Amino acid sequence: MSDSSLRLVWVYPDLLSTYGDQGNALVVERRARQRRLNVSRIDVRSDQPIPTSGDIYLIGGGEDRPQRLAAERLRRDGGLNRAVANGAIVFSVCAGYQILGHEFVNDLGRPEAGLGLLDVVSVRGDGERCVGDVLADIDPRLGLPPLTGFENHQGITHVGPSARPLATVRYGKGNGTGDGTEGAYNDTVFGTYMHGPVMARNPQIADLLLKLALDVNALPPVDDQWYEALRTERIAAAGQPA
Ligand code: GLN
Repeated sequence: MSDSSLRLVWVYPDLLSTYGDQGNALVVERRARQRRLNVSRIDVRSDQPIPTSGDIYLIGGGEDRPQRLAAERLRRDGGLNRAVANGAIVFSVCAGYQILGHEFVNDLGRPEAGLGLLDVVSVRGDGERCVGDVLADIDPRLGLPPLTGFENHQGITHVGPSARPLATVRYGKGNGTGDGTEGAYNDTVFGTYMHGPVMARNPQIADLLLKLALDVNALPPVDDQWYEALRTERIAAAGQPA
């Protein structure tokens, strides 16, 4: 961590917050404050430089054109890549996840370079759009309960050898490759197709990011009964007709 205050950076809310992903920033802030950690949140619009001294960066989902604009500006800015080189943690959702990879297909139907921070490549699926509830078992190495969320994407993401799938779907499409994988991660960079927003449903992800940023193995427990009630409900509902 850069100083006594944890710096949370929310990347491009003007382009990439179509699906309520601001909730992820709110949950990280709240989980930090519940542990009496100082946290400052910096919202960085797409006409502003990305600060390189953040501890945790969040980047959300968006529609196809804003996604291309965000990728162009992030490539030009270079700050997110420098932050990761400095050890920052990044958590990304859907369009943001695709942008962190090597390449995705943009709104013009052309390949668009990503930031190369995660070893994934996204293509445009030619089948139905992946829309609906997701229930996924997270990589056991991360030691978290099953994740629940909601996906809405046309892109399909292939995970390369330098990244690991974040989870395996019990229900839903996830990466859409038909192999049951959902999302991807490496040591410090995470991506998922799950909205929800994902941390409002799975606050343990926020805790994981905080632990990585603080370089600690555990955080003081907090009361999670409402989150767990929601998880139980979503697990029971998974696969049932709406
Ligand atoms: N535009 C991308 C796709 O459809 C990402 C969508 C999203 O962020 N929900 O694959």
